[in-house]
Amino acid sequence: MPAIITVFNPATDPLTCRETCYDNPRPRPHCVCGGRNTGIGLDKAIQSNQKYQKEIAEDLFKRFVYALRVDIVVTDTEPLRNTMSYFSPKGLRPKLCHPAPDL
Ligand SMILES: [Zn+2]
Repeated sequence: MPAIITVFNPATDPLTCRETCYDNPRPRPHCVCGGRNTGIGLDKAIQSNQKYQKEIAEDLFKRFVYALRVDIVVTDTEPLRNTMSYFSPKGLRPKLCHPAPDL
């Protein structure tokens, strides 16, 4: 099963909420879902994603200040899987230039 929440960070692999969370009865407070989806199963987790997508995205951009993008799966009606992409609210980030530009 694929990830239903994905946090894209510039310096690490994407962080995900996936079946190891929503199909897992044990608490996972460190999951990117904040434990919201733990153990409730795929269907309910996606329903919760749809309902709380804005709150989830806002919370993740607070928790992961360098995150660039958050993808949240909001419907899963075969064969369609709709994902909402939220982008960092901080707008354009400075780019590291190689070599540094002459000033
Ligand atoms: Zn989770």
